[in-house]
Amino acid sequence: MTMEEIELVTIANYLRPESLSEAYELNQKKANRVLGGMMWLRLCSPRIQNAIDLSGLDLDYIKETEEAFEIGAMCSLRSLETHPGLETYFRGAIKESVRHIVGVQFRNQATVGGSIYGRFGFSDVLTCLLALDTEVVLVHAGKMTLAEFADRKRDRDILEKIIIKKDGRRVVYLSQRATKTDFPVAACAVSKKEDTWYVSVGARPAKAELAVIHGEPAETLGEKAVADMKFGSNMRGSAEYREAIAKVLVRRAANAVLEES
Ligand SMILES: Cc1cc2nc3c(=O)[nH]c(=O)nc-3n(C[C@H](O)[C@H](O)[C@H](O)COP(=O)(O)OP(=O)(O)OC[C@H]3O[C@@H](n4cnc5c(N)ncnc54)[C@H](O)[C@@H]3O)c2cc1C
Repeated sequence: MTMEEIELVTIANYLRPESLSEAYELNQKKANRVLGGMMWLRLCSPRIQNAIDLSGLDLDYIKETEEAFEIGAMCSLRSLETHPGLETYFRGAIKESVRHIVGVQFRNQATVGGSIYGRFGFSDVLTCLLALDTEVVLVHAGKMTLAEFADRKRDRDILEKIIIKKDGRRVVYLSQRATKTDFPVAACAVSKKEDTWYVSVGARPAKAELAVIHGEPAETLGEKAVADMKFGSNMRGSAEYREAIAKVLVRRAANAVLEES
């Protein structure tokens, strides 16, 4: 592709709201667009009438309390990757889910808000957080589980923050890529609390889906988890290949969870 063929993003007006409610009101117009890190937006939205920049709203934070981690929408993927509290509590699983995404400079730009709001099929971030007790907080619709949010139709709400509860589950994240830093061909996160497994499988290539399974041995968890999931084909792999890989990843992740426990 030559420079002449690349369509650069054009923004007619730049808006910097002073509150989340103002940002929400501005976002109700179809021609307006919320900006996260703009890493995806600049590739798929060449013309934006009014760009709504959330960076003046203090949404770039990770707050750790006794019960949970609260992560603001403008927190970068790199902050997620390097936060010592997240690393310790989830034993590197969240770091593992983001460390393959393009490169450090890219992850310094891409945000948690854009990654979750996008609900991308290839999303490592969505896949990982679905297997944890994660909630999202939206300006208009309020609080809901990440699984509910992932199933919702797209609307013009604004994601303010996510909350990951410290509910004691052990979690392991694994993905398979054809080449380093490419989109995943298959991705999974497996967590366990008491007798219950939470298995999230992403890059099918549809967006991540969660299976909640009780009392299954790790060896057969992969078969069981994907039994009701649909897999598809694209240039990165066939449905059959993805399903076979996903089963193996789930089994490996489940065994790793048991070893950690
Ligand atoms: C080349 C490339 C490779 C990638 N590879 C991977 C990969 O391997 N794995 C992976 O998981 N991800 C991958 N991604 C996705 C990336 O990690 C981010 O998820 C993506 O760029 C969106 O984040 P952003 O901050 O750039 O959001 P933006 O591009 O700014 O926004 C994305 C969408 O979300 C909306 N939005 C942003 N913030 C909010 C908010 N707070 N509330 C409501 N709506 C909002 C925007 O209006 C837009 O529609 C890749 C992206 C690119 C461009």
